Amino acid sequence: MHLELNIFWLLLPVAALSGWWIGRFAQETKKLSKNIHPEYFKGLNFVLNEQPDKAIEVFIRMVEVDNETVETHLALGNLFRRRGEVDRAIRIHQNLIARRTLNQGQRAHALLELGMDYMRSGLLDRAEKLFLELVDLDLYQNEAYFNLLEIYQQEKDWENAIIIAKKFETVSGKNLNSMIAQFFCEVAENELDAGILSSAKEQIHNAMNANSKCVRASIIEAKIYKLTGKIEQAIESYQRLELQDNNYITEIILPLYECYKELDNVDQFIEYLRKIANVYGNINILLILTELIAEHEDKDLAINFIFQELRNRATVQGVDKLIEYTLSKSEGETYKRLSTIKKLTAKLIEKKSIYKCNNCGFDAKMLHWKCPGCKQWESIKPIYGVAGE
Ligand SMILES: [Zn+2]
Repeated sequence: MHLELNIFWLLLPVAALSGWWIGRFAQETKKLSKNIHPEYFKGLNFVLNEQPDKAIEVFIRMVEVDNETVETHLALGNLFRRRGEVDRAIRIHQNLIARRTLNQGQRAHALLELGMDYMRSGLLDRAEKLFLELVDLDLYQNEAYFNLLEIYQQEKDWENAIIIAKKFETVSGKNLNSMIAQFFCEVAENELDAGILSSAKEQIHNAMNANSKCVRASIIEAKIYKLTGKIEQAIESYQRLELQDNNYITEIILPLYECYKELDNVDQFIEYLRKIANVYGNINILLILTELIAEHEDKDLAINFIFQELRNRATVQGVDKLIEYTLSKSEGETYKRLSTIKKLTAKLIEKKSIYKCNNCGFDAKMLHWKCPGCKQWESIKPIYGVAGE
């Protein structure tokens, strides 16, 4: 009965693995059980006493590492990591690497697995070392570069992330240009925060070279121009975004308004807004247009404008704005009722997310260039249509 229990324990994690492996493991276990190793009962004892860590030590000693059993050890280690038992996975993989009997391919495989164990436990420095060793060995290059790229992004080590991404592109044949452009933008933003504008500009140039459609690079470039008083060039950079990816058009409206105000040329801005409002029919653009009409022309014109637009596109924000303007012209009971409705529309707007990840559906209230949910770059975009507007 004890013997059966032990076999059961050994096979338990194995059940999740592929069929051929189960067969192989069963054969090995059968071989073992023929000449019962004294360690076997020791291990069994640990299992029965619910000391799985010690039982694993016994397993490691019992199943000698040789060319036949390396796969078994690797699979078991991998399984432990997947189950979140990383310490055990680490012990199994370290034990493998320590053996001199392994050939180069097997050792490299064990290094890769151990590197992934370290990543899982947050020991990024140790993981980095192992993946760099694999790169030097010219083995498991794709996996090594993929993981190194993850590590440098987690550490916000953008310089190394750029170097590795370029090497990864060469090895894998993948196009990582838009990701590389984002890394350059990260460096540019750091330089901008530090006030080193010339370096920030250089990084933006690199970002554009990597991906001419990089919206973020245009936004940062516009900021740099604005900081240096080159307002016309800032406007040009912001407006370039329309050709790069018009999904982000709402991101530039307010900064553009600031630029035109600085040039004392709001009329030209209103003209620009009317043009793009017709093309995109976006509520944020319409709301700003309404406010500008109210400010530069008069409130009745603004009310008429938003009322007309609402007939084409019914949106909560539009209704909210309409109530706001109508409120200022009401009194008595009408004022009270409108105030109550205004509170409701304000609440509805407040709860809405304005950005969403196209890849995993993550909802956000602000723009993230890298999705906090699925870690993909440039997958979060402003929401258009009923949900966002
Ligand atoms: Zn996502």
